[in-house]
Amino acid sequence: MTTAGERTDGVEVSLDIHLAHSARMYDFYLGGTTNFPADREAAGRALAVFPYARSAARANRAFMRRTTRRLAEAGIRQFLDIGTGIPTSPNLHEVAQRTAPDAAVVYADNDPIVLLHAQALLRGTEQGVTAYVQADVREPDALLEAAARTLDFDRPIALSMNALLHFVPDEAHRITERLKSRLPSGSALVMTHLTPDFAPDETARLIQVYTAAGTPVAACTSEEFGRFFTGWDVLDPGIVATPRWNPSPDAEDDTEHITDAGASCYGAVAVRP
Ligand code: SAH
Repeated sequence: MTTAGERTDGVEVSLDIHLAHSARMYDFYLGGTTNFPADREAAGRALAVFPYARSAARANRAFMRRTTRRLAEAGIRQFLDIGTGIPTSPNLHEVAQRTAPDAAVVYADNDPIVLLHAQALLRGTEQGVTAYVQADVREPDALLEAAARTLDFDRPIALSMNALLHFVPDEAHRITERLKSRLPSGSALVMTHLTPDFAPDETARLIQVYTAAGTPVAACTSEEFGRFFTGWDVLDPGIVATPRWNPSPDAEDDTEHITDAGASCYGAVAVRP
């Protein structure tokens, strides 16, 4: 069954709430309210085999905030965040625009429920710009074309794909290379990805649960993760479990107590020379 909703601006949104979806399961792990019984059931099955889902999601979110702040402080003024997810507070544009009120942020996701929340993603500063693009990362050219209506591809862009590419097994490297090829010198690639390196048995079972629920997932080793950044300069501290990436004493971002297994995701940031 499909439920159709219409936003105040007339955009029609239809979503199947009887099938679990990764964005809504992730929202459940974070304690959000944008999830339905099918999502909660599937998330419950995932938590039963992979007790780290909640801490992994929290660590991932905090990684997004720390990397965004760092890049804004380093002078980046344009952000393209693919696989945005259901908004949490603060979201990427809020973090970027706190440091750089003139920052331009484009969000992209393929789940219609994120589109329903786009209003929350678009409330930015007066000087800044925020835009939302409904797009599939498996069609990078169309996505880039839509993003280019807002972003200037002749100036550095921070491209973030956090907890996204494990949902596009087999295509992740092709997609990333395509996106990287369009970004100018000084641009940054920010990424997190599920890994089996810290909790191999639990991760294998998690993959089975997601795949059985109709969402294929892949995990990658640190060597495979490193290949995403080929040709770019990986910033310190390199490829690490997400909580280990430049931990901050900030209460908002404090995930240092989360173990590597509890995060089960690698994170890194690299800059195009
Ligand atoms: N980046 C956020 C959310 C991660 S959840 C964070 O790190 O906290 C993964 C998100 O990727 C979901 O919102 C899901 O809808 C989106 N997604 C999954 N497959 C996608 C695809 N092929 N194209 C675009 N977005 C996708």
